[in-house]
Amino acid sequence: MTEIDTIEAKRLTRDLTTSFEISLGTQTSISNVVIKVELTDGTIGIGEAAPVSMVTHESQETVLAAIELARSLVTGMEIENTRGIHTVLKHHLETQHAARAGIEMAVFDALGKRWGCSLAALAGGANAPVVTDDTIGMVGPNTAQSQAAAAVESGFEDLKIKVGGDIEADIERVAAVREAAPDAEIIVDGNQGYYPKEAIQFADRTADFDIGLFEQPVDKDDRRGLKQVTDAVRIPVAADESVFTAEDAATIATMGAADVINVKIQKAGIVDALAITRIAAAHGLDLMIGMMLESSIGVRAGAHIVAGTGAISYVDLDGHFSIADPITSWEYQPAHDVQGPGLGLDVEYDAL
Ligand SMILES: [Mg+2]
Repeated sequence: MTEIDTIEAKRLTRDLTTSFEISLGTQTSISNVVIKVELTDGTIGIGEAAPVSMVTHESQETVLAAIELARSLVTGMEIENTRGIHTVLKHHLETQHAARAGIEMAVFDALGKRWGCSLAALAGGANAPVVTDDTIGMVGPNTAQSQAAAAVESGFEDLKIKVGGDIEADIERVAAVREAAPDAEIIVDGNQGYYPKEAIQFADRTADFDIGLFEQPVDKDDRRGLKQVTDAVRIPVAADESVFTAEDAATIATMGAADVINVKIQKAGIVDALAITRIAAAHGLDLMIGMMLESSIGVRAGAHIVAGTGAISYVDLDGHFSIADPITSWEYQPAHDVQGPGLGLDVEYDAL
């Protein structure tokens, strides 16, 4: 029996290289938490919680408090019992999404290291490189154009553009990106910023720009509005903030409210993220993976889920590019390396 011996957590606070604006607000820094799980055999697993108050309704402080509580709940549990650990955390910390996600990430990293296999393998697949898009925030058209050109120059074939603000400015931004990247696959993300009628209008007026996916056009709780947009527009629509849990995914799928579900570890944790991929597949929905602004720990975990499930068509794992003073080095390029054991990352917790 190898059990969870200790759980520790520390703040990971970093500035962003440039501020990042979406329809919900602007981020200039990250206030994340790194979690260390140590097993009774000395194996160490590392995870990351990325609380974003405007999405997960958590903060660095609430995550640290949640981990205090989690310590008393899961210390002594068998590490192989990942479902049991998930169930205990979900019962006691249901609304603490990022905190639960960070603990589950560390648990799976530890389990993978103990077994000598990757998180991708634990998720049912083989290690394989994963290719991400690059995201352009709600910037002016000139900045959008130069960012798109730089991304294309670095080999990115998929670009995501934040919209959901002033519709004229949004259209100008999309037009500027399309001009700089004529062959790119374009995703737009409304981040709940439109009313259904506006979203339909935006889709109609951008028809010539060949947008490939429209993420979360309307308020997360307006499921009928989401369905209204999905039924009205030609391009596939993705539910992001509307789906945190497996239960949310089942609701959206049975309503036919979206064509695609954006699964994120910070919303669902790892066990529920895997469940969401099965629910989507069973309903004939496609999948996207996204992230909050996370360091390479969270980004890498997402890449393992893509490789491990083999079910995710749209990959948006680029947040680490924006973080100043990164905890591991990275190159500005689309491919993520996926290998084990665990997350396959060399992060020294005590040095952070
Ligand atoms: Mg999104």
